[in-house]
Amino acid sequence: MNDEIEEVTPEDLAERKAAVKDTGRCPYCDEKLAVVDLTASPFNEWDAPEAWFCTNQNCGYRLASRRVMEEQGIPGGSYRFLYIPARDWCGPVADTRASLLTEPRKG
Ligand SMILES: [Zn+2]
Repeated sequence: MNDEIEEVTPEDLAERKAAVKDTGRCPYCDEKLAVVDLTASPFNEWDAPEAWFCTNQNCGYRLASRRVMEEQGIPGGSYRFLYIPARDWCGPVADTRASLLTEPRKG
């Protein structure tokens, strides 16, 4: 048993992922995804106007990622769920990268 990570079956997950564009919710933790305007970001590698991602620090996906990163020799690293509506694409985004995207522009 693990109290920290919510169990989501692969079937549920696939269903939720397919529905992200309608629900706007993280398939892993069901939190509302944050919408980031990428047109103002210098870190836009997706060439898309906006990105949605999970800001839940306790998201099961993020918690699991910490273990994965540690196993890969990157202790303290983590990533979160990202969705690019223009591409209908789900994937991981490193926390460090996510904070760059959400950081208010300086100057
Ligand atoms: Zn989440």
